[in-house]
Amino acid sequence: MTEAWRPDDEDERRGAAGPVRVRVPAKVNLHLGVGPLRRDGYHELNTVYHAISIYDELTARRGDTLALTMEGEGTGELALDDTNLIIRAAHALAGYAGVLPHARLHLRKQIPLAGGLAGGSADAAAALVACDALWGTGLSRDELAGIAADLGSDVPFLIYGGTALGTGRGEAVSPVLVRPTTWHWVVAIADGGLSTPAAYRELDRLRDSGAAGAPLGSTDALLGALRQRDPRVLARTLGNDLQDAALAMRPTLADTLKAGEAAGALTGIVSGSGPTCVFLAADAASAERIAAELTTAGVCRQARVAHGPVAGARIS
Ligand code: ATP
Repeated sequence: MTEAWRPDDEDERRGAAGPVRVRVPAKVNLHLGVGPLRRDGYHELNTVYHAISIYDELTARRGDTLALTMEGEGTGELALDDTNLIIRAAHALAGYAGVLPHARLHLRKQIPLAGGLAGGSADAAAALVACDALWGTGLSRDELAGIAADLGSDVPFLIYGGTALGTGRGEAVSPVLVRPTTWHWVVAIADGGLSTPAAYRELDRLRDSGAAGAPLGSTDALLGALRQRDPRVLARTLGNDLQDAALAMRPTLADTLKAGEAAGALTGIVSGSGPTCVFLAADAASAERIAAELTTAGVCRQARVAHGPVAGARIS
């Protein structure tokens, strides 16, 4: 085992003396194709990730122990102990790099808990980037993504951001290379969360009983639509195999989806395992109008505009 690194006067210069602030986005899945259940208990996924402009922010300062505090979404609900993905990420990086996992971390959370926007994974990615800078461990993004894969399937994507293909259980990520286009979204945040494992179990149940829709299959149509850079074309190709499961668990989401489309969205889908719904808008002004109408209709806790793709976890 590597001996733990202890900062002395010279080593202090390796890391950041002052606070390191990292901003990390939420993700939506433009295509979430769920394949068969694997022997390891995960489903085989074929997904297109897309990072959007709703952010958590993690600040890391030097400390004598590892401590986490927070404000914002989920405060008082989210455990700040060793089960928190931020603490797990800090330990994983320290173990890999052979340093002591000492830092004072503060999370400002805007991504809702258990919302299908991968907030916990985003925070883990932020912790890897922040602690790497604080401790001066100097790992490459690919090395950080390697550590990230053991923390959760979505964590590697949130190190990179942008729009990317995810395969395996989602942890094998490769960028989708298309000419830059900004897509405009409305994000309808629900009251309360949905458990991701429960959504996968519900999908298995629907499939076993023959009640699930046909699986999405290939990402080709979606990737072609991204290249065409026309939101009306993209709208026809968005899809989520977990949507039926999320609707079965939370039937009122059907009203949210209908309300968004009635308000002028090109289409709406459940994000990941839900309950957040995301709507594609024709442009920024249309997104603002849809968000205002969804708020008035009372079909969600909060409706926010966002754009994508945006970068992954970055020092700000
Ligand atoms: P995904 O889309 O990746 O399935 P999600 O958006 O539905 O995830 P998250 O908010 O990422 O859900 O969190 C799921 C669970 O992970 C939480 O209920 C919580 O128990 C646990 N968790 C651990 N650390 C964190 C964290 N820093 N932020 C949020 N959740 C965390």
